[in-house]
Amino acid sequence: HFDYIIPDELLPDIRSGVQVFINFKGSRRRAYVVGLTESSDYPEDKLKKIEGICEKHPKIPDNLLALAKWISEYYCCSQEQAVRALLPLAVRGGKVGHKTISHYSVKTVEDAQKFIFEKGKKNPAKKAVLEYLLKGIFPSKEVLKHETGASDSIIRSLIKENLIIEDKRKIFRSVFSEDAVFLAVIPHELTEEQKKSVKLINQVFEGKINRHVVLLHGVTASGKTEVYMQAIQKCLDTGKEAIVLVPEIALTPQTVERFIGRFGNLVSVLHSGLSEGERYDEWMKIYNGLVKIAVGARSALFAPFKNLGLIVVDEEHENSYKQDEAPRYNARDVAVMRGFMEKAVVILGSATPSFESYSNALQGKYILSTLNKRVDNRLMPDIKVVDMKVEMLTKEKHLIFSEELLYRIKDRIDKREQVIIFLNRRGFATQMMCKHCGFVAKCSQCSVSYTYHKQRACLTCHLCGAILQAYLKCPECGATDIRFSGTGTEKIENMLSEFFPYARIKRMDSDTMRGQKNLYEKVFREFRGGKIDILVGTQIIAKGLDFPKVTLVGIINADVGLHMPDFRASERTFQLLTQVAGRSGRGDTRGEVLVQTFSSGNPAIQYALRHDYIGFYKEEMEIRKLMKYPPCVHLITVFFKGTDENETAKFANQFLERIRPSAHKDILIAGPAPAPLSKIKNKFRYMILFRGWPMKTLRNTLRNEILHAKKHKNVSVYTDIDAQNML
Ligand code: ADP
Ligand code: ZN
Repeated sequence: HFDYIIPDELLPDIRSGVQVFINFKGSRRRAYVVGLTESSDYPEDKLKKIEGICEKHPKIPDNLLALAKWISEYYCCSQEQAVRALLPLAVRGGKVGHKTISHYSVKTVEDAQKFIFEKGKKNPAKKAVLEYLLKGIFPSKEVLKHETGASDSIIRSLIKENLIIEDKRKIFRSVFSEDAVFLAVIPHELTEEQKKSVKLINQVFEGKINRHVVLLHGVTASGKTEVYMQAIQKCLDTGKEAIVLVPEIALTPQTVERFIGRFGNLVSVLHSGLSEGERYDEWMKIYNGLVKIAVGARSALFAPFKNLGLIVVDEEHENSYKQDEAPRYNARDVAVMRGFMEKAVVILGSATPSFESYSNALQGKYILSTLNKRVDNRLMPDIKVVDMKVEMLTKEKHLIFSEELLYRIKDRIDKREQVIIFLNRRGFATQMMCKHCGFVAKCSQCSVSYTYHKQRACLTCHLCGAILQAYLKCPECGATDIRFSGTGTEKIENMLSEFFPYARIKRMDSDTMRGQKNLYEKVFREFRGGKIDILVGTQIIAKGLDFPKVTLVGIINADVGLHMPDFRASERTFQLLTQVAGRSGRGDTRGEVLVQTFSSGNPAIQYALRHDYIGFYKEEMEIRKLMKYPPCVHLITVFFKGTDENETAKFANQFLERIRPSAHKDILIAGPAPAPLSKIKNKFRYMILFRGWPMKTLRNTLRNEILHAKKHKNVSVYTDIDAQNML
């Protein structure tokens, strides 16, 4: 932040959170007041004055300003970055405003009649307008023009002559298409487990328990959403407001419909597809107390409610709650902080809680509430493993689909049930290799191979987005003998349509959904309406969906992701398997899941098979303890990026030497070393890892170093507190 003098005339109106105009490096800019102080470190003659207040602008509420301050300190970013994350551009930028609509009426009946009588003949157009308005109608401009044939200039001149008046009203832009229909979602009769959970949450509401966070660990289809909704009802009953966070990927029509179906126009939905104007309006509705519930992805956490009672974080383990640019905050953790600061209850819900949250619950920092059974006594899906190593030994033909999986898919289609086939890898093949000379197509700017997309006949880099035409022959030796390996969803879709030509197959991944705003919704509707037999997809289809007719989920290769150089690889695999498996058997027929893997003995797979979260947690935690990884310790990473490898490494070493004295003696330091993705977009990447406790002094020094130290001209640095991404 920067210091400015408050001129006397502005003194009464300047408070924290107010938007002001300032002169910054010679140009007029908008800025927010983040604090008031009596003195400044700068010499007084060098300080400039605040030039004015942006009157029309909403002030940042005090509660959010306090939260921004905490974010900037904890996540080592500037207050400016934190405020940017907090307020949508539409609100702080000043470019978008209220939309208004005008209605017209005569000013006085007498004047209007007089005009018609005296001048009507000469002015037929004006006469028509006045006669129309004299009927007592209060039309919009559009209607007025249509009914009387009047032009804009006729209307303007009538206003000028004081014969008619224009009444401008603020209106809100509609987020939903006009034909959107929402069916009422009536409260369910709660199961015993749900009842217990709701009761516990109510006790937290009433302040009977000295904690404010509830971890709701409920297996898939145990009815967590119903628990959230009843907690929200309770919150509304006490006159307070609620925020519901869902991962962007799960912000499907299905989730939205549920909340709107229950709470109607008390709900504001914040998703990435909103236009700037819509975003502005939704923010204003919340700010002005016109809605009571905000549902949205990560940034909905900053909904400007003034009397917040509850924050729900659904699928709290999700990676996408962590923002991957500065400020690198984790919305789940900030939710816990906001709840604490504003005395609101926080519910973290998941079928596979993050180890961080579960260990907090076991230590008594959070209250644990468990739903072990699916609603309506439905059984957990029956998970079976197909050992692909054995499969490879006995058969050569279907290396990608085991015979068992093919057999079951056919069976389901014959029975008119639905199938989900999951593979967390898009494209056709992840490697293109010349069989003759061994050439592998690699991105020239990144340290990964290209992925081949057959339909688009191209090679793409999934790191930098580079795209080029696929080679028909090897660019090195000219041979045409090219091998594609590493299956992706596109190939799965192709193969399935060969095996089952009569089946209706759809693929859903970020390639097929690219740039098509409503396709998502369309495919989900089709699938729910039974118009698709097999849905193939990546993790897009793994989350939060509730399709009762799905009775088989096939996981093509459970090992994708298992061998990543990341200590959470196992945890992520367990989560993903459990979540995907959870899509099966949500109706009356028991669901089945077939997991193909080359690592059938792996604990992540074995425990997922048995639906044993706690068993997995215990075993995996032993490793975390031994290896000193979160949640047993805190973790901070620092990344360095530069075009010259030596220079980058050298700078990383110097950086560490400056920081090292601030690291507590119990903190382990690893690196600087090349990051697993050692090159992206022609930049070499180095990383340092800090693991241990306590981190506070180190964090302060890091923040200072990153925000205030002189920047290297060729190497950029960023730090990631509680890093989720180790690549
Ligand atoms: P989860 O989020 O735990 O996976 P959902 O909230 O999606 O589970 O619930 C699964 C299904 O069960 C939904 O269709 C929901 O409407 C229904 N449901 C929830 N609670 C009950 C209940 N008490 N009785 C009957 N059905 C319920
Ligand atoms: Zn690349």
